[in-house]
Amino acid sequence: MGKPIRFMKNQGRDIEGAMTIKETFEKKKPAISFEIFPPKRDTTLANIDETLEILSALHPDFISVTFGAGGSSTNNKTIAIAKKIKNTYGITPIVHMTCLNYTKNEILSFLEELKQDDIHNVLALRGDKNPQFEPKKEFNYATDLVKFIRENGEFEISGACYPECHPDSKTVVDDLIHLREKVDAGATHLISQLFFDNELFYEFEEKARIAGIKVPIEAGIMPVINKAQIERMVSICGASLPEKFRCILDKYENNKEALFDVGIIYAVNQIVDLIAHGVDGIHIYTMNNPIVAKRIYDEIKNLI
Ligand code: FAD
Repeated sequence: MGKPIRFMKNQGRDIEGAMTIKETFEKKKPAISFEIFPPKRDTTLANIDETLEILSALHPDFISVTFGAGGSSTNNKTIAIAKKIKNTYGITPIVHMTCLNYTKNEILSFLEELKQDDIHNVLALRGDKNPQFEPKKEFNYATDLVKFIRENGEFEISGACYPECHPDSKTVVDDLIHLREKVDAGATHLISQLFFDNELFYEFEEKARIAGIKVPIEAGIMPVINKAQIERMVSICGASLPEKFRCILDKYENNKEALFDVGIIYAVNQIVDLIAHGVDGIHIYTMNNPIVAKRIYDEIKNLI
């Protein structure tokens, strides 16, 4: 088992009076969260303000912000955006943090910044291997980062999980063993990689529970609104496309408006089914498109 959770001086609340992530999952099922990424060129973050304006009006339980895997200059924006989410919009932020291409000192300075900003939630990640960047070799896996964060602050730590198995794992069993290690090290909440076939998520969830993983598992849903996006996503993360979805995409690939609607309808259907199956939470990969997130939210708001 991991170390007992230390008492946090403000119980891990990013915002006075708001629930911690742990409390959210204890009190609410399903929790709803959104993911955004720091814009590459928008240095003033004006566009992200427009996005956050719409997303925050949907009152998600939290909003997570992605972090570069290394060699990227956007990580300071990740923390700046998390600060905005908390201070301007009153929503609990989760800061993604990758470790493969960072030293312990670099991670410490990110953590220091979070502490100064009173941000308590980190999604601890390994990051993808990228031949352009030499790993710093101070962290090999997300579990190393989870342990390091536990030793260096009072944070609620989340981790990633993979309904279709992480591509680096030789077997599903290996993947689950390492996921259990990540939870035992201190990850108290998991967010899944995107998937398009709910059955794969249910099978994974059952195996994770059998492996003794008891923390809440949020289902990652990505509404795909154009064919190029789906092809890119599938090639990056290896998610499989069910025949029925492939058939819909083929039928509407040259009809932009129809494909947009179909992507939303497909995501809504996935979410309705997940809620009916008692999922702990839904994490919507918004791709910084708040209109899509709002349309989905409007469809499911009476179910949550
Ligand atoms: P890990 O948990 O370390 O797992 C990686 C692989 O190593 C798995 O196969 C695992 O089984 C294996 N493994 C773990 N421990 C051991 C061990 N002790 N011995 C041998 N094998 C082991 N990337 C970004 O760059 N920025 C982001 O903001 C970002 N956000 C993400 C958010 C979510 C919800 C998800 C699902 C992914 C995100 N990613 C992000 C991508 C992520 O960085 C990659 O998927 C990466 O390849 C793995 O990261 P991880 O934290 O899951 O790694």
